[in-house]
Amino acid sequence: MPIRILPDEVASQIAAGEVVERPASVVKELVENSLDAHAQQITIRIDKGGRTLMEIADDGDGISAQELTLAVTRHATSKLRSAADLSSIATLGFRGEALASIASVSRMTVTSRPRLAEVGARIRVDGGKVGELSQLGVPAGTVVSVEDLFYCVPARLKFLKQEATEKRRINALVTRYALAYADVRWKLVEDGRTVLQTTGRGDRREVLANLYGVDMARQMLEIQLEDANFKISGFVSPIELTRTNRSEITFFINGRWIQDIALTSALMQAYRTLIMVGRYPTAVLFIEMDPQEVDVNVHPAKAEVRFRKPQEVYGLVQRAVRRGLLAYEPLPEPQSPNWQGGYQPPQTYTQRTIDPAFAMSADTDLSEFDRGLAQQVEPPAQAQLPGSDFPLLRVVGQVGASYVVAEGPDGLYLIDQRAAHERVLYERLLDGRGNGLPGQRLLEPAVFTLPPQLAPLLSEKLGLLGELGFEVEEFGPNDFRINALPVLLMGSDPVGAVRSLVEDFEGDEAPLQAQQDEALIARISRRAAVKAGQALTSEEQVKLVRDLEACRDPRSDPRGRPTMIHLSVDLLERQFGRRSSR
Ligand code: ADP
Ligand code: MG
Repeated sequence: MPIRILPDEVASQIAAGEVVERPASVVKELVENSLDAHAQQITIRIDKGGRTLMEIADDGDGISAQELTLAVTRHATSKLRSAADLSSIATLGFRGEALASIASVSRMTVTSRPRLAEVGARIRVDGGKVGELSQLGVPAGTVVSVEDLFYCVPARLKFLKQEATEKRRINALVTRYALAYADVRWKLVEDGRTVLQTTGRGDRREVLANLYGVDMARQMLEIQLEDANFKISGFVSPIELTRTNRSEITFFINGRWIQDIALTSALMQAYRTLIMVGRYPTAVLFIEMDPQEVDVNVHPAKAEVRFRKPQEVYGLVQRAVRRGLLAYEPLPEPQSPNWQGGYQPPQTYTQRTIDPAFAMSADTDLSEFDRGLAQQVEPPAQAQLPGSDFPLLRVVGQVGASYVVAEGPDGLYLIDQRAAHERVLYERLLDGRGNGLPGQRLLEPAVFTLPPQLAPLLSEKLGLLGELGFEVEEFGPNDFRINALPVLLMGSDPVGAVRSLVEDFEGDEAPLQAQQDEALIARISRRAAVKAGQALTSEEQVKLVRDLEACRDPRSDPRGRPTMIHLSVDLLERQFGRRSSR
């Protein structure tokens, strides 16, 4: 055969294969279009699992009659102008492929009217053949209806699963979007039955109740954590609610549902030792970040993304979830009868699998639903503990004026108070330096002179020291004056403190400025940290453990030595001969 350029229709049918794999992918693209068009209300009608009809109606911005033909053309989009825009995409769509792809493998009708237009318009595309445009009076918004999916692509039609399977996928998709966009009123009607309806009040727990039932929604733990670059929120199941597979683990990045194995394993890490191997939690987590931080143009179906700082994102997920789990998990109290009888692992491992496709009642009665909600205004039962302020480890006491003993749901922790405090101060200084950490003025400035080989070392660091709360000035060759010290170091001898820092610079071989700065911060932390042999009050012990738990890297001090030793319940039981070692 000679080489030929494929006719447009054939090219789109081939391309459509990547975007439109099954009915749920059509629903996904159309729902995303409605959300991009700022819809407040989205109604989805499905017949026969999407084979015969999928209709998505919204009250969004609409498409003008002049643009309707363009909208169904391949690579036509209102969301992207140049390749540069690709690096900061804030809409769900951007490839300009969905409508054209869907239209090339079905009979599609788009009816739309922008709010300010007097009349609306309709266009029909049949297996990629664009029909005539007609004008008609319709409500503001857009209705896309897709009939006879894959009627012209028999190879695809063969691969469609049973109606029930396709339906379940659609349900899973719509329920997730309903959770992510709780301020949109969603309605899903399948074969004439309303299977999902939400109020659009913006309350995610209310939507959860709708999806998983009031009981489970009440038990789900709310997660929230934010750092300079990322924000995470959402719900995870407590450790006693597990499932046999990971299909109920959902991540949204900037409002986009994505699949990412590494995110899932970060989540699983947080549950490690708390649930049995082979069991999985239910989780819906929403991560927000600057669009520049994530590449969404990795996959035609936009289901995968690439993070610029993957480790940071994964770390945040793990910390957020772990923290949430430990904060909500009731720890045994020393006076409880359990305690005398030895450690009782939390009652976990009960099996409860809920498929939201089946948990949704056929015709959700909203008034009934509202009443259920009224009873669950107060936080879930586990949250009776003073929320996330509760120490994640329960402090038992101090040993040898050097170690703090603490208990967690998964065993015993021995915490080296010196190492732990160094870690806490180190991260605090590191995070605070940009914002100018508070310094405290000395009553009398302290004056000192450095030998000439050392003076330049200090002069070089005056800026950084300033960010950390020192106020040191050079007032003559090799002569320095200390006017203020970081609050952390108050009480120590100012000249001694600065001198010893300078002596440390001398031995510093780190080639990179950033590393040198970190080493300096580590030294200040070491100087300011509590020492071994210092007795701590119980409040101080609790505060130390709590501060440590909030660290990004609580397990080691700035020099990489461990801050804690963990004796797991498993280990203890084996040591006491309660369980044979495996
Ligand atoms: P993309 O979403 O990637 O831009 P689509 O093929 O999905 O590509 O849609 C093409 C264009 O049609 C969109 O850019 C948008 O301008 C318009 N459009 C599609 N669906 C809707 C809708 N429900 N409401 C308003 N405009 C829409
Ligand atoms: Mg789109």
